[in-house]
Amino acid sequence: MRTLRARYALAGEGLELLEGVEVVLEGGRVVDIYETSKKTSEVLVMPALVNAHAHLGDCAFPERWLSEGLSEIVDPRRGLKRRALEGADVAEAVEHGMKVSRAAGAFGVADFREGGAEGLREALRAGEPGYMPFGRVEREEELGEVLRLSHGLGLPEPGFPTPELAERAARAFKEAGKPVGLHLAEARREPAEEALRLGADFVVHGCFLDWEDLEELKRAGVALAVCVRSNMWFRLPPKLPEALEAGLKVMLGTDNCTFHKPDLWRELEAASLVLRRSGLYSEALARELLKAATVNAQEPLKVPWRIPLEKGSDGPLLVMDSRMLGLSRAKNKYSAVVRRGGPEALVEVLNAPGKPLIKSGRPAHPGGDGSGEGEDKRGQEDR
Ligand SMILES: [Zn+2]
Repeated sequence: MRTLRARYALAGEGLELLEGVEVVLEGGRVVDIYETSKKTSEVLVMPALVNAHAHLGDCAFPERWLSEGLSEIVDPRRGLKRRALEGADVAEAVEHGMKVSRAAGAFGVADFREGGAEGLREALRAGEPGYMPFGRVEREEELGEVLRLSHGLGLPEPGFPTPELAERAARAFKEAGKPVGLHLAEARREPAEEALRLGADFVVHGCFLDWEDLEELKRAGVALAVCVRSNMWFRLPPKLPEALEAGLKVMLGTDNCTFHKPDLWRELEAASLVLRRSGLYSEALARELLKAATVNAQEPLKVPWRIPLEKGSDGPLLVMDSRMLGLSRAKNKYSAVVRRGGPEALVEVLNAPGKPLIKSGRPAHPGGDGSGEGEDKRGQEDR
């Protein structure tokens, strides 16, 4: 058992800011959290970040194609990236991407993995805890294998590789209780109907969704993963102000690692700039941005641990240096976390996930199902 006395905490699903708290941890869970008048450490304890959209395989080729356009690079059938991935060490790229993500406080990453079943096997060789692969089906006969190896379905476009196969894959994932996500309306108009037809849990980008589409997604309970830095890099308009105004459940992602390191703190700052530019930024919206980087991912991504800091939670928690965030002096404290958070302020992680969520694509050892692979280190930090 361990008791952490923190000056600040972001607690519950609403990330309520508490001052002077004791968090009691035991066996990888929060067993109690209450306010205290005892002396506390100058730290903020909060849920770990969840990156709702990344392509970690791209860590194999950072800072390439500085002047090429979006479709030239990422077209899922003919793009420059598809060819580059063929010769890449994907396991090493995923390992690197997860290492950078964790150093920046993200302990769950939804990776839209390219290359069908083989692409999943390559990535899973890295055996990274917190890695959530969203696979895609390239050929009909691999549907079962992609379903088995994926945390969720991650379509590069609504009808990939064909509208019929995309629909069958989505149905299979839904039946298996796995989440379904897709890129939608990133570079051109595509109606919300495309996502609804597939029963999607979330869509990514949505730069060219109109107001009716946003309302339709909200009515259907479909979340939107926004990647502001990626959109700006490709000179596309991030749909963040409108999505927040429409009341959609918003999540944040860092998208292609070729162009952006998977650091959600930078994404949070960029998001604040986008909102400020639209004349909307406020302390209340800073709080919404923090939810977008943490608790909002719970349902749409089916994150396998309980994210909010509350009794019973088994999710990873960040202990941040509150002095480095300027928190005691900041008038708007949510805004301080959003705009001054960063890897340099992360002093400790509690309940970090210790073993991969999805088993490696390697054949199981004879006589076993491979479930003994990787020691469960969960909870070790709090002993
Ligand atoms: Zn993407």
